[in-house]
Amino acid sequence: MIEDGLNATGFEEVGLLSLSSSDHTEILDLTQKVHQTFHDRNLSFSLPSLRIESFSIDLMDELKELKPGGGFTLAPEAATERMRAVINKPLDDEDFYQTVTKIFENGWRSLKLYYMIGLPTETMEDVDAILQAGIKVQQIGKKIIGKSVKIHLGIASLISKPHTPFQWLAVQRPEIIQEKLDYLKAGTRKAGIKMSYNIPDSTLLESWLSRGDRRIGAVIQNAWENGAKFDAWGERENLQIWRNAFASQNLDPDFYAYREKSLDEVLPWDHINIGVTKNYLKRDFEWSQLGRTRKDCRNVCYSCGILDTFGNQRPPETVSYWGCP
Ligand code: SF4
Repeated sequence: MIEDGLNATGFEEVGLLSLSSSDHTEILDLTQKVHQTFHDRNLSFSLPSLRIESFSIDLMDELKELKPGGGFTLAPEAATERMRAVINKPLDDEDFYQTVTKIFENGWRSLKLYYMIGLPTETMEDVDAILQAGIKVQQIGKKIIGKSVKIHLGIASLISKPHTPFQWLAVQRPEIIQEKLDYLKAGTRKAGIKMSYNIPDSTLLESWLSRGDRRIGAVIQNAWENGAKFDAWGERENLQIWRNAFASQNLDPDFYAYREKSLDEVLPWDHINIGVTKNYLKRDFEWSQLGRTRKDCRNVCYSCGILDTFGNQRPPETVSYWGCP
């Protein structure tokens, strides 16, 4: 697919996107083959989201030649162990800094770290921890690489999406998100760390579109008829058009963004079967509130529903699969 895509389009950039690319059972093989096939093509290749472990460094080292001067990207998502337990991304601080040290020792000069704000139960302490993590990573880099080290924090705001354990939660209000962003902006500027982020208005628009029910269709049409187009481009964004569109349909946009739903509410997307059951997501949500995390389900199956729904797609040979399709 990569070969066909490159030949058909002339693009020079390929990314293997996933919540965690290194969870793919044959990722090393795949990256080695990509390297063999494309190393003389002047191609930029990225694996933007990796588990924070030394295996990820082996993977990236494999691709280094394909992206000379490129940076390493990690997605710790949250900067305190407590917060990472809430989002089921357990990671010891010690393991994180060990991985960071190894990345710099392997010669990488630029490191991008993705974090999220607006997570459930988040406090300003958790937000400050993001800044402190960036500063500590910068110090480690400077010690190993020297002053040329570049740290980049990518900050996204959580929009709790359908079919996820946070689907019942409200989105944080723009003024609260802005306060957190301002804090991080001031701190990173002072420390000489680059920071990029989503503006709160785009977060709000995205939350309307991604969490809406079937009535949102008329809102989208009305907004479009009144000039909404390419809203993700900062200069084109105009939330007022969208607010007017909601009003034209007698709908309240806050209903879609800021209302916390009860666990037994029928959700607009409940009739869509994605494989994972609603009960499983509920359990995940409840565990998250207790800070309880799930282990890799390759070792223990939690009966999430995938096998029941997609069992017929299981490959006959299970050599390199763990049973789930
Ligand atoms: S059914 Fe598959 S995906 Fe779901 S918990 Fe079990 S092993 Fe994991």
